[in-house]
Amino acid sequence: MNALYNIFIGPPGSGKGTLSRLCVQELGWAQLSTGDLCRKHIKNRTEIGKQIDFAIKSGKLISDELVASMVCDWLENLAGSVPSIVFDGYPRTVVQARDFCKTVYEKFDSVKLNVIRFIISDDSIIARLGGRYICQNKECQAVYSLITGSVLNPKKGMGCDKCDSLLMRRPDDEADAILERLKIYHHHEQALDFYIKNKQEVLEFDVEKPVLQVFEEFKELVGIVCTV
Ligand code: ADP
Repeated sequence: MNALYNIFIGPPGSGKGTLSRLCVQELGWAQLSTGDLCRKHIKNRTEIGKQIDFAIKSGKLISDELVASMVCDWLENLAGSVPSIVFDGYPRTVVQARDFCKTVYEKFDSVKLNVIRFIISDDSIIARLGGRYICQNKECQAVYSLITGSVLNPKKGMGCDKCDSLLMRRPDDEADAILERLKIYHHHEQALDFYIKNKQEVLEFDVEKPVLQVFEEFKELVGIVCTV
């Protein structure tokens, strides 16, 4: 079976991180985090790492070219070792989407690319993010929901199930900040037009359902018949 490269596109709070973690834990998939990748290159003092370090220290954004080359490197190293990959948060812009598709189509011919658009109302996002708590231990950062009846409720009051550290809210999960982030997200939805124009199918995915149902329906959507 072809490896699946799954690009998750959805507003903050739509459950991309939650579904990504399930794919990693339950299906043995890999997840790309461009933030982690940057930190690793800087720590290992690679050629790319030195250039990113410089850009970050001088307060500049990392160029699309550098991100694309880091991602391409990462994919080449990983090729064949994991069944499939989740891309959550990258590619974000039209230029990044173009670079990414070019890399995938030129270098990885046994890959099926899925672009998955998470569909959810703004009201539900505000409710979910209002109930989102994360572990304040930077090494852990597990995500929970305090919404009554959620499978993501923490088991030990306001302590993390995994490391016992205190849970806290993210400052950008307050109502005003959420509305601002939604505005920015809708701007980045332009990348969707890029896929459509280039005949890359976009799978619309209704995520306004309980977590485990979202996971089951995701597997059906991308055609994974046999679950682990
Ligand atoms: P994103 O990564 O898209 O920003 P998260 O995965 O962090 O979103 O989810 C946002 C909040 O909503 C978290 O508190 C999470 O526990 C909760 N959540 C995620 N998926 C669902 C779901 N299907 N139903 C209810 N709450 C959810």
